Amino acid sequence: MNNFLEVWKTLMLFGGIAIIVAGLVYYLLYFFRLSIIPDFKSKYDFINTSEIAWLKRVFLIVGIGVAFLINTYASETIKEMGAWFFVRFFFGVAGATLIAYIAALVLDYWYPTKINSKLRKWRYMPRINPKTGDKMKLLSEDEEDVHLDAGMIAEENVFSIDYDVWIDEKTKEVKIEKYPGHLTALRCNNCGFYTMRVVKEEIVEKYEDGSPKELLKNYQCSYCKNKRATQFNISTKEADDYKNIKPKSTKSPRNVELVKIEIRAGHKGNKFYEFQSIEEAQAFLEAFDFDKLA
Ligand SMILES: [Zn+2]
Repeated sequence: MNNFLEVWKTLMLFGGIAIIVAGLVYYLLYFFRLSIIPDFKSKYDFINTSEIAWLKRVFLIVGIGVAFLINTYASETIKEMGAWFFVRFFFGVAGATLIAYIAALVLDYWYPTKINSKLRKWRYMPRINPKTGDKMKLLSEDEEDVHLDAGMIAEENVFSIDYDVWIDEKTKEVKIEKYPGHLTALRCNNCGFYTMRVVKEEIVEKYEDGSPKELLKNYQCSYCKNKRATQFNISTKEADDYKNIKPKSTKSPRNVELVKIEIRAGHKGNKFYEFQSIEEAQAFLEAFDFDKLA
């Protein structure tokens, strides 16, 4: 039995170190993977879709390595097999779970704020025209509309999709990039744009005490005006209170460079939104609805 404990200790020690090293290599692999993506928009998309899931896997691997190392604890002092072995094994599993779980919580709730600044970096880094090598200029919300078609503008107006328009001022070449907007809208079956939004809600069924039970949501596409209605069960959530808050402004809107809105949403965390004008921020608050948060 002593022999088994010796083998076990060696396995756990070197296995644990190897797994932790593998986790670190996997972590570095992420940055290598990111660095070989040539264009900025693709880097943005890769970070946006992969970074959090990738880091979760890193912590899971490291957690398993730590579990191995926990299984070497006190192996110098206790030489006889016993129940302690299984207790220690359990602590190893618990340690791995704790590391992976806490990392997942941090990555889900705290990390998105951090990742946003990375995303902004790649989103606003000046694009290079591949043909001429010249820097392109990002158009403002007001300037870009002439380069977008009506459906794209409708999507921007309901904040479901955000388009960035880059222009090469010498050659007038245009590059349009598509980003997820702040609010979700449904895809219209008729025109295909993400412009289907709730226009009217009516209560169609009530409980005996008069409180609402079922709701009929009437959707209309803000682009092609196509209509749809869907029935929902009522949630008890009251989250509309923020809708009427108007952004405070004493300055003339012309001097406004940026409007930042922070919405504190309890367990859903804080959300930050940025707009180029007060009008845009106001329109966003008008359209704001917790159920539509992207
Ligand atoms: Zn439509």
